[in-house]
Amino acid sequence: MEAEELIIDLIGNIFGEPKMINEIRGQISVDCPVCSYTIKGLDKLDGKGNLEINYQQHVYKCWACAETHGTHGHLGKLIDKFGSKKDKKIYKLIRPDEFEKKEKVYKKLELPKEYKKFDEIHPLHIPRKEALNYLKKRGITDEIIEKYQIGLCLEGEYSGRIIVPSFDKKGELNFFVSRSWNPRSKLKYKNPEASKDFLIFNESLIDWTKKIYLVEGVFDSVFLDNAIPMLGKYISDLLYSKIYENGNEVTIVLDGDAWSDAEKLYHKINCGRLMGKVNIIKLPKDKDIADLQGNLQDYKEFKLD
Ligand SMILES: [Zn+2]
Repeated sequence: MEAEELIIDLIGNIFGEPKMINEIRGQISVDCPVCSYTIKGLDKLDGKGNLEINYQQHVYKCWACAETHGTHGHLGKLIDKFGSKKDKKIYKLIRPDEFEKKEKVYKKLELPKEYKKFDEIHPLHIPRKEALNYLKKRGITDEIIEKYQIGLCLEGEYSGRIIVPSFDKKGELNFFVSRSWNPRSKLKYKNPEASKDFLIFNESLIDWTKKIYLVEGVFDSVFLDNAIPMLGKYISDLLYSKIYENGNEVTIVLDGDAWSDAEKLYHKINCGRLMGKVNIIKLPKDKDIADLQGNLQDYKEFKLD
């Protein structure tokens, strides 16, 4: 048997029949034992399939309880906790050596070699026009394009995609997101392999002494001054500690459909030296900052009890 089959087997033995397997991404969904036993107090698994395991990267995360119960990290940790002695032994045998180390080391990231800025392409070139139309429709101005060094790829792995690079505080690339401008594209976003837990998107543009907006996506962040996208609904430990150490004032604006996540985030941040310095904005259920093109004036900042 292949190593991947062995590991899928092992996961199935410990967490029950997988709810979903994506062999390309190496992702598998099973029931979360923490949700089922610890949180809900059930004597069997809850059937929700919230626990996602990536058996190529040997990491796991529960979509329901990662934040509240720390259900995320290296697969070895999960198997240590819930597997039998035999499971642990098997895992050690099939786990590639590189995952023994605590953090995966990623190779230095580079922009796709086909990345170009808009002004490097002839203005009448049709794909360039399409890409620019897409950005304009979303309210992204020339100023924003320039400030964030938004570019595009016309060829290669990221062909047909708009690229938004991220630079760390030293000005070195630490990530990029790529967004297809074709509305029929099945894969809207395609991002490089890098751990989002170890980076702050465009930290180079952040002034920690000023008010910081915490938002979900890169295309939300470009509309607000001093906004950090969390690249999802949850804050990474790194971003959390940076804000805690350096932040002075924080306003949380998550997508309208993520109000309960926003509330949790508020209470997580509103403590210690940031107590009383955190505000929140509530958007309508079907709206996010990108939809509103950053026009938040109708939505007041407030504090939660
Ligand atoms: Zn869970």
